[in-house]
Amino acid sequence: MSLSLQSLPGIGPKTLERLNKLGISTTKDLLYHFPLRYLDFSKHSPISDLREGDSYTIKGQLLSFKNIYTRSHKNIQKATISDSTGQIELIWFNQPYLEKNFKVGDTYHFAGSPTLFQNRLTIIAPEYSLLQTNRIVPIYPQTQGLNSKFFQKLFSLSLNDLLSSQKDPLPIAILKKYSLLSLSDSLRNIHQPQNQALLEQARHRLSLDEILNYQSLSHLSKKEWLSKKAQNLLKSDKTIDNNLASFTKSLPFKLTPSQTKVWAEVKKDLLSQKKVTNRLIQGDVGSGKTIVAILATYLTQLNHKHSLILAPTQVLANQHYQTFKKLLPKNTPLKLIQSASNTKNGKTKKELSPQKGTIYISTHAAIFQKDSLPPISLLIIDEQHKFGVKQRNFLEQKDKLPHTLTMTATPIPRTISLTFLGNLDLSFIDLPPKDRLPIKTHLIPSLKVPDCYNWVKDKIKKEKAQAYIVCPLIEESESLASVSSVKKEYLHLQKEVFPDLKIGLIHGKLKAAEKDKIIKDFKDHKLHILLSTPIIEVGVDIPNSTIIIIQSAQRFGLAQLHQLRGRVGRGAIQSYCFLFADPNLNPKSLSRLEYLQKHHSGQKIAEFDLKTRGPGEIFNTLQHGFPSLKLAQLSDTLLVSKSQLILNSLVESNFNLEKLLIQKPQKALSSLQN
Ligand code: ADP
Ligand code: MG
Repeated sequence: MSLSLQSLPGIGPKTLERLNKLGISTTKDLLYHFPLRYLDFSKHSPISDLREGDSYTIKGQLLSFKNIYTRSHKNIQKATISDSTGQIELIWFNQPYLEKNFKVGDTYHFAGSPTLFQNRLTIIAPEYSLLQTNRIVPIYPQTQGLNSKFFQKLFSLSLNDLLSSQKDPLPIAILKKYSLLSLSDSLRNIHQPQNQALLEQARHRLSLDEILNYQSLSHLSKKEWLSKKAQNLLKSDKTIDNNLASFTKSLPFKLTPSQTKVWAEVKKDLLSQKKVTNRLIQGDVGSGKTIVAILATYLTQLNHKHSLILAPTQVLANQHYQTFKKLLPKNTPLKLIQSASNTKNGKTKKELSPQKGTIYISTHAAIFQKDSLPPISLLIIDEQHKFGVKQRNFLEQKDKLPHTLTMTATPIPRTISLTFLGNLDLSFIDLPPKDRLPIKTHLIPSLKVPDCYNWVKDKIKKEKAQAYIVCPLIEESESLASVSSVKKEYLHLQKEVFPDLKIGLIHGKLKAAEKDKIIKDFKDHKLHILLSTPIIEVGVDIPNSTIIIIQSAQRFGLAQLHQLRGRVGRGAIQSYCFLFADPNLNPKSLSRLEYLQKHHSGQKIAEFDLKTRGPGEIFNTLQHGFPSLKLAQLSDTLLVSKSQLILNSLVESNFNLEKLLIQKPQKALSSLQN
């Protein structure tokens, strides 16, 4: 029988409520509430070795303990401890009750980092352990009124009982082969480490479980997808093949080897009579993903079936519409769906008899209008990372799915693909069209900004260049404050910096039609400079413009900077990216910007970002609703490949992967995209 939380010592109704607020409602949840960090009281440094700024644990005899009340009603606790090498002061503020914890003459352990206080080396508010000296002490996050000592005590009383109900889901053969600690030993050591080595092994095993959990989820979700039927099967025959071939010939460019390879992969999927396509196409900004989408819709059209392209913004939907119209053979039925705010009653009318094989292009607003669309056989989601999890599933009928292609320019590090995207087939457009020159990227310190503006002015006047200037948002969203700050910058640039040039201003608060007009003016060379908030980040394709200035570049993430930079360098002319950075930039931010200056591969940049900043930003840009990992590091390539190997061998032996899910399968599956 499984234990309930209430039956554990020290858990009454009030504490139970607090635990629930922390997301702990079962004993398993409790076991997986891991310490944030540890204090290693099993090792200590001689007091004479202590240096300012580093962290230490020390062991010493308490020479004195004083409660001092100041005139300003503050209250300080001062202690002195010594070992055979020296002595040091400890100070706490406003904790008079500490006095009863300590006895002068006894020996204690303390941890903290010394600073200079009144000219003496002092540890301010050191942590101490009364319970478990000589051990590694877990420190739990302090939230909801439950402090670390509460969890320490709870586990010291109940860990054995809690562990007795945990079975190791991994077969012993796997544990042996990969030298993994058993689950119960791991859980024991994560809460009560016997020593550093076992703590490391526990962490390794539980991190691996975490990765394995998501890999299993991806695998299960792929299996589910594969059990569905396609909305319509597509086929090819001589006529269709000929049409495709002559279409490819009619293009103003020759497909690159990367595009050819990816199109072959996509085509094979689409023509498969056995499975429904679910493929993610990754390719750096400007690598030429659109043409693959066009080919896929054309194949669908030749089968007289409908496709739908979803773009993240109206501007992009319009741009795709223009591109499709320009490239596809005349008379190809093509329909641009205007977003709800642009139509009269906010709803598009249901088309009674759509032309056979229509290609619809829309923003994700189509999600709310799916009833007005005929059955869709091919769904293409461009700049997939801009869509939320749920939105992507909107066309899913119960048993019949459209072939689905998603396209993203966000480079996804391999470890992330292996963990979270195992349910998708992946294609990479790894090389851009040949004529591209690497974008010259320069960091511009504040002092040099006027020179840079002058240089740009020259380029515009003498060489008819065009430039983007990107202004970061001063608040998280395109709020009123953000918009007013970009308007101010606009006035400044127009009046003081570029008085004789035409500047356009575009930001998220403009109406779609206004945005279109400005983009069109810029495209038609009626504007020299386009000042924008980061909304141009996604997909805008204006090969004319060869200069991009990014103000306060340190405020953007690397992935986003890379995407912004990708707005230029889209033709054969040399392009430039200038990163303005504040003068008092910290060395870390500086090194990130320098990395961008020297590197051009989105993949490399993303891997670097993952290593230096963790997955936060990448997840943010992907907006996949990726769940956060408690222990595992996604930059740990070895861990992720090991877990992939384990998964493969489990799959081979028909192991029930649901056993590997840390949460219950239903809850877990719904947390995963697709
Ligand atoms: P993205 O992958 O960012 O969506 P696009 O599909 O918009 O890139 O392509 C970027 C630019 O490259 C477009 O102007 C497009 O016409 C051009 N392009 C695409 N494929 C090729 C090619 N094979 N050769 C030359 N130019 C190409
Ligand atoms: Mg694109």
